[in-house]
Amino acid sequence: MAKPLIAIVGRPNVGKSMLFNKLIGKRLSIVEDTPGVTRDRIYGESEWAGRKFRLVDTGGIEPNTDNQILAFMREQAQIAIDNADVIIFVTDIKTGLTASDQEVAGMLQRSRKPIVLAVNKMDATGTVDPDFYEFYNLGLGDPIAISAVHGHGTGDLLDACFQYLPPDDGEEEDSDVVQVAIIGKPNVGKSSLTNKILGEQRVIVSNVAGTTRDAIDSYFENSYGKYNFIDTAGMRKKFKVDDSIEKYSVLRATMAIERSDVCLILIDAQEGVTEQDTKVAGLAHDAGKACIIVVNKWDAVEGKETNTMELQRRGYAECFSFMGYAPIIFISAQTGYNVNKLMQLIRDVDAENGARVPTGVLNEMLARATARMQPPSDKGRRLKIYYLTQASTRPPTFVAFVNAKHLFHFSYQRYIINQIRENFGLEHTPIRLVVRERGSGEVGAKDV
Ligand code: GDP
Ligand code: GDP
Repeated sequence: MAKPLIAIVGRPNVGKSMLFNKLIGKRLSIVEDTPGVTRDRIYGESEWAGRKFRLVDTGGIEPNTDNQILAFMREQAQIAIDNADVIIFVTDIKTGLTASDQEVAGMLQRSRKPIVLAVNKMDATGTVDPDFYEFYNLGLGDPIAISAVHGHGTGDLLDACFQYLPPDDGEEEDSDVVQVAIIGKPNVGKSSLTNKILGEQRVIVSNVAGTTRDAIDSYFENSYGKYNFIDTAGMRKKFKVDDSIEKYSVLRATMAIERSDVCLILIDAQEGVTEQDTKVAGLAHDAGKACIIVVNKWDAVEGKETNTMELQRRGYAECFSFMGYAPIIFISAQTGYNVNKLMQLIRDVDAENGARVPTGVLNEMLARATARMQPPSDKGRRLKIYYLTQASTRPPTFVAFVNAKHLFHFSYQRYIINQIRENFGLEHTPIRLVVRERGSGEVGAKDV
């Protein structure tokens, strides 16, 4: 099966985020020192007992509320619940069992998903707080005592979750299939684009309604390859949300993005770029996905002249300058204009995002690049890049071993990244560069 999804659910403040970070956090360390990647994550991947799984943190469920924000958070949590294979229901020993917990339990039971009950903030080991036994009243079986802060009990918790999963058949998701998320505001033409593409291809295999009410998966094959289009129902119009829950308002887009290889960021040509557009694009960028800025409804733009597209392209490029690698394409989902070209682009950016550069040629390039433009120096000490290697793909992530991190200025990092792009045809994918310091004693033959 595909990597199972575990959702962390519970009232606000019981420690869900803390638990999420404990289960996921450390494993993301490879990208830690990359600028722009330190974001509040609500979705991540990890591994337990040799098996990969996905984890989603929900904002929190307050069952009885007139508060619009809390109601909205509840709705977002429902999306995660609908998608999950197993639910971790987190409660809090400090507040004890509350009426709200009882109601959340009822809501979870109606979902018919397997539920693992965790009682958090059991920080002291050795003694069991008598209040712990109250949690048996939820009728969800044995509660598991955990401390998200210290990590106690989290192994038992994962064991309990895994016991509900069907045995691992060892099969990864069909890796030939390119997962494409279509994201953007309501009415930009996401469904129209999917329909156009499906309509034009005579080889539709299936059109499966996704597991949620929110995303429709459409699998098809054509001369470009095998694709699964994930059509998100769109982010809601932004209504007033405060910062603490802002991150959960994009849960739906986040889940589609994380599941994808390529993100199509749809913009309405009649409307131009809005703040919400750059925001969703930012999510895809942070996730390291190959992205394409798709300006739709080009047919409806009036008074076009020969250079209109070029002028507009520059405007769009400026709005999305933080992700300059993303190609910009003008299409019409209605007339089909440039839709084939879009298919080609999807294939190409996906290939770049998954590309692997052999270490040998990478270091030959590094030698040429550093010879052409000398590395920066400070107070008589010059940056040395000993060695460059590609650590992972999707996105291509390179690790540079250097003598002193602080000498590797942003502008020189950009220079090296641009050299990688030019030399290996990686112009249309985000690239990450991780800088590691290495003592001069370790240098040896790899010194460049
Ligand atoms: P969420 O709203 O459910 O995501 O809760 P948070 O993860 O933001 O945690 C809420 C509060 O509980 C924070 O002040 C945390 O520091 C605290 N907290 C979380 N886990 C633990 C724990 O295991 N022990 C203790 N003592 N406090 C915790
Ligand atoms: P979604 O909410 O993003 O899925 O948007 P829809 O696909 O439902 O489209 C919203 C509206 O925009 C519909 O009335 C479509 O007919 C219209 N629309 C979509 N694509 C185009 C296009 O390329 N040109 C024009 N003129 N209208 C379009």
